[in-house]
Amino acid sequence: MQTDTAKPATALKVVIVGGGTAGWMCAAGLARLLDPAAYDVTLIESDEIGTVGVGEATLPHIKTFNDMLGIDEAQFMRETQGTFKLGIEFRDWGRPGDRYIHPFGTFGHPWGGVDFQHHWVRARQAGQDVAPLQAYSYAVAACRANAFEFPNEDPKSIRSTYAYAYHFDASLYADFLRRWATARGVKRIEGEVRDIARDPASGHVQTLTLKSGATIVGDLFIDCTGFRSLLLGGVMGVAWQDWSPWLPCDRALAVPCERAGEFTPYTRSTAQTGGWMWRIPLQHRTGNGYVFSSRFIDEDQARETLLSKLDGAPLAEPRLLRFEAGRRERAWSGNCVAMGLASGFLEPLESTSIFLIQAAVLDLVNLMPTPGDGDRMDRRLVAEFNRLFEIQYDRVRDFLILHYAANQRYGEALWDHVRTMPIPDSLAHKISLFEARAWTPNYKYGLFSRDSWLSVLIGQGVTPRGYDRLADGLSLEDLETRMRDLQARIETNVAAMSSHAAFVARYGAGRVEAAHLASAAS
Ligand SMILES: Cc1cc2nc3c(=O)[nH]c(=O)nc-3n(C[C@H](O)[C@H](O)[C@H](O)COP(=O)(O)OP(=O)(O)OC[C@H]3O[C@@H](n4cnc5c(N)ncnc54)[C@H](O)[C@@H]3O)c2cc1C
Repeated sequence: MQTDTAKPATALKVVIVGGGTAGWMCAAGLARLLDPAAYDVTLIESDEIGTVGVGEATLPHIKTFNDMLGIDEAQFMRETQGTFKLGIEFRDWGRPGDRYIHPFGTFGHPWGGVDFQHHWVRARQAGQDVAPLQAYSYAVAACRANAFEFPNEDPKSIRSTYAYAYHFDASLYADFLRRWATARGVKRIEGEVRDIARDPASGHVQTLTLKSGATIVGDLFIDCTGFRSLLLGGVMGVAWQDWSPWLPCDRALAVPCERAGEFTPYTRSTAQTGGWMWRIPLQHRTGNGYVFSSRFIDEDQARETLLSKLDGAPLAEPRLLRFEAGRRERAWSGNCVAMGLASGFLEPLESTSIFLIQAAVLDLVNLMPTPGDGDRMDRRLVAEFNRLFEIQYDRVRDFLILHYAANQRYGEALWDHVRTMPIPDSLAHKISLFEARAWTPNYKYGLFSRDSWLSVLIGQGVTPRGYDRLADGLSLEDLETRMRDLQARIETNVAAMSSHAAFVARYGAGRVEAAHLASAAS
């Protein structure tokens, strides 16, 4: 572990502004993954301004990030009141009464080199007695049973076909990373940035002046100032791309409540008249929120609905957050890189924001300016960072829009609007390929995987007319047997799993919560 040392004069001075999840994930990543002698990392945060204080559901990639940092998982769970997450349940999204899970796992096997969905579509079209798609996912079955175990590493095991993420308390997570990063050499300055000076010739940021009058110099500045986007949007003037025509939700009310109801290993998202509600089970409480469009429902109605649907007594007054869907045209401009809310915002429907921060941190580490170059930025590296940023955001955007656009909630103003609005060509193309041939995207970089698209397309009621003709290579009798065996194997294995509550109680529970969870498990 590196504590503060005198750095060589050539060390690149990295100044992170903002100490929310983005700022501290970035600080932790840079402290662990860069040579501490070559990079000098300082983070400025303002206690007075505070953080957005939400962001409690994640994607499985966060485990890779934590592992890269060398974070002890059980300690992390204890200190953030964490629970496990195997997917997201969508209730009433396709139409009222519908339920499906977007699992962190696969559906079936690619028999004969052909993806499972083609066999499934073929079997249904042939009139075979096959179950709904959801029955062929191990992670879905585990969610339905409120069960959790770590995946098996043997690729032949059915228990290797899923991954997991976490739910955690957002403020505890930022605290955890703060302690972690400062113990590894990141300098923390408490203060509010009031003034930003740029070099008149290059336009690069040179110094920040704090409310106290102190000035901070740097070579590379990371803007993690949240929705303010103080450096990238404010000083560098990078334009905002407004995606609200496709994603009209612009408000959220967030409220924690006492832990009650099922201790689910998944996030729940329930569609509502004016948007949707989230439910995130933590060890010590349940996080809830109503994400809504102020064009279709007013704040009072949303508050009333939210409070009427809590599992337990509210632990605070609902807190209102305002936002707009979209992203900056670029995330890196001059010597300034933005991450987190300072670079863009996509509603938390698929828990993507923390993943987007993680991706930006790792891309930045890969493309980091060379020590000794000072604030001279290599344009090729900057362009590559921005290209990757655009890919990430644009793909998540399409995936989120799919949930809205493919709905059959007829007669409800918001849902009629999103069903009939023009959608991006890139999404229209994906839907039409799926309808024609059950084809789903399979990206090497970025979100989401083939199985994710499959779960949401089928879950939202999009039906393929055709399938990959290579699937015809398997006899229908053979196919029926394989599908029956697969389903049985999933059911038998899930039945032998530990309950989520029992697993958390013995693995990563805080002292007080262990007893509660043990009683929830029995
Ligand atoms: C309703 C809602 C629900 C969400 N749910 C999820 C979820 O389930 N999963 C997920 O992945 N993401 C979620 N997100 C997104 C997630 O909350 C954010 O991506 C994450 O918290 C990162 O925020 P941030 O660090 O960019 O900004 P913030 O938390 O706002 O931090 C900004 C920081 O900048 C500092 N700052 C600002 N101005 C100055 C200044 N002038 N001087 C010094 N410091 C300054 C502040 O003090 C603060 O430390 C959600 C977002 C919203 C709005």
